[in-house]
Amino acid sequence: MKFIADGMLGRVARWLRLMGYDTLYMNTPHKTEIIRMARKEKRLILTKDRKLYEENPEITFYIEGKDTETQLKEIKNKLNLEINEEKIFSICSICNVPLVRKEKEEVKHLVPEYVYNNKEEFSQCPRCGRVYWEGDHCKHIREVIEKL
Ligand SMILES: [Zn+2]
Repeated sequence: MKFIADGMLGRVARWLRLMGYDTLYMNTPHKTEIIRMARKEKRLILTKDRKLYEENPEITFYIEGKDTETQLKEIKNKLNLEINEEKIFSICSICNVPLVRKEKEEVKHLVPEYVYNNKEEFSQCPRCGRVYWEGDHCKHIREVIEKL
């Protein structure tokens, strides 16, 4: 399942990516662009825009919740979204691009020394170059996801 999150759902987009779901974030007033992209790439539009939903119910999921956690719960429960442990942290939360596994040596110059010394597994975003590793913030993210 692939998504497009529209203007008001930037945080939802980042969380879905953290869970491993391919999610475009389209912050544009031109709804026709969003609809065209959804049809072309077979994506479900997540929106808080009731008009957009009512005019395109077959490709749109209307979100009622106000805060990010409620919105994510809504998506997960109503769409029966599976949360797969192996998919968590598999795509870049900024670029929505699959991460590539890297050998420790390859990222030596890109990460802080203490991280290099203490971590064994690294991956990198081929687009923005960000290097990811399992750090303390990941624990927090996993806890939030597990709560869902
Ligand atoms: Zn990236």
